Amino acid sequence: MKNKPSILLIYTGGTIGMVQDTKGQLCPFDFSHLYRQIPELKKFDVTISSVSFDKPIDSSNMNPTDWITLAKMIETNYPAYDGFVILHGTDTMAYTAAALSFMLENLSKPIILTGSQLPIGTIRTDGKENLITAIEIAATTKNAKPVIPEVAVYFEYHLYRGNRTKKNSSEQFNAFQSPNYPPLAEAGVHLNFNH
Ligand code: ASP
Repeated sequence: MKNKPSILLIYTGGTIGMVQDTKGQLCPFDFSHLYRQIPELKKFDVTISSVSFDKPIDSSNMNPTDWITLAKMIETNYPAYDGFVILHGTDTMAYTAAALSFMLENLSKPIILTGSQLPIGTIRTDGKENLITAIEIAATTKNAKPVIPEVAVYFEYHLYRGNRTKKNSSEQFNAFQSPNYPPLAEAGVHLNFNH
């Protein structure tokens, strides 16, 4: 029997992981209760584990030391998982994606960064779609090999190459673009990979 793909979710901070506390203030949600926050994930035929930065940070505070921490988290867990999804603030997500793409050489597994413009705990959040599709992409294989064995950014129905991505809006859900390289995939009714 085929094993379910296993995905490690790494939360670094940023809007996507925010929920409102009892006083209505935003605070990072407890990833040990991931399935309670996002029950849709239970429907996936994927095993999901999660780890967080000890102190989740706004991505405007991300620096090269954090990139090293992230790369080491991936290195340590690399043999145990089929793919990785990094939840990251949008402001510097493109920089982290570019840095990781050069730090992690000879990848054979997907490393997908995503985030959101609205906190996952709000009604109109874009975070759920971004997270769910990023996990689906990280788990997609063809002929028993991952379809995206590289660092990529998934946002608002588009998957972009990690070192070809830039943030272009803090207002629109469609916040990223890849001016010099076509999207690696588009998510509509089906996930369409640009082979
Ligand atoms: N300032 C936040 C960050 O980049 C915004 C976001 O998460 O989108 O961490």
